Amino acid sequence: MGPDMRQTAPGKSAAAQAVAAIGPETPLSALKGIGPQRVAQLERLHLRTVADALVHLPSRHEDRTQLTPLGRLTTGDGRTCAGTIAGIAPPPRGRPRVPLTVTLRDASGFLKALWFNQPYLARVFQRGQSLVVHGRVDRDRRGGALAMQVKDYEIITPDDDEPLHTGRLVPVYPVTEGLSTRVMRVLMKRLVDEHAGVLPEALPAALRERRGLAPVAPALRAAHFPESEEERVAARRRLAFEEFFLLELGLAIRRQREGRRRGLTLSPPGKLAARLREALPYRLTGAQERVWGEIRQDMAAPYPMNRLLQGDVGSGKTVVAALAMLTAIEAGYQAALMAPTEILAEQHLLTLRALLAPIGVTPMLLTNAVRGRARTEALAAIGGGRVQAVIGTHALVQEAVAFARLGLAVVDEQHRFGVVQRAALRGKGEHPDVLVMTATPIPRTLALTLYGDLDLSVLDEMPPGRTPVRTFSREAKDRANIYAFLRTEVQAGRQVYVVCPLVEESEKSDLQAATEIAERLRTQVFPDLTVGLLHGRMGLAEKDDVMRRFRAGEVHLLVATTVIEVGIDVPNASVMLVEHAERFGLSQLHQLRGRVGRGAAKSFCILLNAARAPEALRRIEVMTESTDGFRIAEADLELRGPGDFFGVRQAGLPELRVADLVRDGALLEEARREAFALVARDPTLGAAEHRLLRTTLLARWRGKLDLASIG
Ligand code: ADP
Ligand code: MG
Repeated sequence: MGPDMRQTAPGKSAAAQAVAAIGPETPLSALKGIGPQRVAQLERLHLRTVADALVHLPSRHEDRTQLTPLGRLTTGDGRTCAGTIAGIAPPPRGRPRVPLTVTLRDASGFLKALWFNQPYLARVFQRGQSLVVHGRVDRDRRGGALAMQVKDYEIITPDDDEPLHTGRLVPVYPVTEGLSTRVMRVLMKRLVDEHAGVLPEALPAALRERRGLAPVAPALRAAHFPESEEERVAARRRLAFEEFFLLELGLAIRRQREGRRRGLTLSPPGKLAARLREALPYRLTGAQERVWGEIRQDMAAPYPMNRLLQGDVGSGKTVVAALAMLTAIEAGYQAALMAPTEILAEQHLLTLRALLAPIGVTPMLLTNAVRGRARTEALAAIGGGRVQAVIGTHALVQEAVAFARLGLAVVDEQHRFGVVQRAALRGKGEHPDVLVMTATPIPRTLALTLYGDLDLSVLDEMPPGRTPVRTFSREAKDRANIYAFLRTEVQAGRQVYVVCPLVEESEKSDLQAATEIAERLRTQVFPDLTVGLLHGRMGLAEKDDVMRRFRAGEVHLLVATTVIEVGIDVPNASVMLVEHAERFGLSQLHQLRGRVGRGAAKSFCILLNAARAPEALRRIEVMTESTDGFRIAEADLELRGPGDFFGVRQAGLPELRVADLVRDGALLEEARREAFALVARDPTLGAAEHRLLRTTLLARWRGKLDLASIG
């Protein structure tokens, strides 16, 4: 008899005793009947505590409520029926392949139920027992009687109050080796029956009433073992709401705290910003004006700015950042811009140098590539306040870096910085203003989660004169045609990017591929044209030189690695050829494509691909269908899931076990409204009815939320 056969529920008094001793953080190993082997299996599913297991919801439920009379059974999968055991035929000794056959009977007919590889069941079943079976029904070999290959079964005894594996909406759990769905189901049933009550009721009663949400214990029961589909949906929603609510509550508290803090008042007359605007060869778009107004207002207010500037590739975020930096500088402070990689930091340096130098501001670079004396000098200049604008990477938040007077920190996020790094940068000054820029638009639900403690500015308008880039998917056999097309474009005065495959193993092979492609184009395909090469291993001066020649139109085709992903801006370059496009992620392709379509000329993006995997094919398809960053980001989120999409895990946010950022977007917004409203009413969660909420909140954020002032 397997462990899964034990169905004895402990009496009420035993359960009550257990509840007294067991709490949400009790390790599963402390529960009766869970041995070391089981503990190891559960750990593989990341289930360590009672609370972990309680919110380990089934991946789906199977509807086994419809019992078909045996006489009306048809062939097919997913059949459930009940009958009395009329005969048991164990497999003959030494012939393990032959199934155990049990004949079931009801008023309407007979069924042969077959079990493979479980001969011991012959000793479990008895004639006359009632049995519910679930599985696949086929005609037997001679095409005669119906037989079921049993996937799940249940012996029904008269005093059983409810079935578990059959005759209901049956939970199907994510499982691991050695831990079958059936065992898991028994385990979860026991856990939910005995311990669902140990989770504290975090949601205030008034909120639950307003939103029609059940208390936590019945919701847990119904999420695992629902009576109906409606009950299941409502219960899952209740649990997802709580997760979102605790997440948003933490963000709301954090934001309240930042907002109340005294910050710098940066409101100079605005001479430097005005000079930059005069020097620009264009007028700001309406969206840029609006966003810049929002930022200026924040900077002038006596509280720290915490703002997210969101705008699609090419929407003109850089100049807005430059205006903010000049404003901080004019007010007598330093401004820093932090990028996620060295290459991006260098790109930003070049762009900002071009914008700021005419105003008399010289930005300085600080990355880990700046070493030795140069580094010592840079650190001294930053610490002594002799440099006004610093561009860098994570290196900026290292301990050795001390700013004399940091007034503004701009973070070019690229989704790679988390809440924690942002806080570290903030800590480099006396609550400097912080502006976070995202180069890829992100779905609203994720913005509210990852940047839920920030105010939002959106650049929702492109600079004028842009035409959408036309995008094509092509294969290796089209190469000759593609080259002919590139040639006509160059002859028409345009310039071309050739982006080289992303090679995963090392930067070196990345570089090798780029060098080889450049060489082939130079010698074999376009011997009469000028082919340039740009990659991350080149020195800054060398890169600068190639870029200058490309910008000046001296280089016709620029072969580049993904270093051109951001920052590069040559309006006359109107064609991009991406080699092995299947190797790039969606947001990266979108960023790359953003390098063309910046001028008035018709622009093209050719995705050369050898895609086979369905996901890669889908990415390419999305790119050819849309140029809208928001749509692309949403498709990306669907394809990759939120964990991958941003590293939610690294962002310093509590993990979501039930809620799903993709499917539950509307619920997230509801939870957010409730959370922010509650913090506005009770900023320290000091009210008596919020006591349990506060405890749960602190546990959920596990030290990631500094709630000292409310603890
Ligand atoms: P991103 O938002 O992707 O960082 P950039 O700041 O690189 O975009 O700007 C993209 C291009 O648009 C640059 O060539 C920039 O000079 C140009 N640009 C920015 N604002 C305007 C504007 N208001 N009118 C015309 N061109 C603009
Ligand atoms: Mg940019």
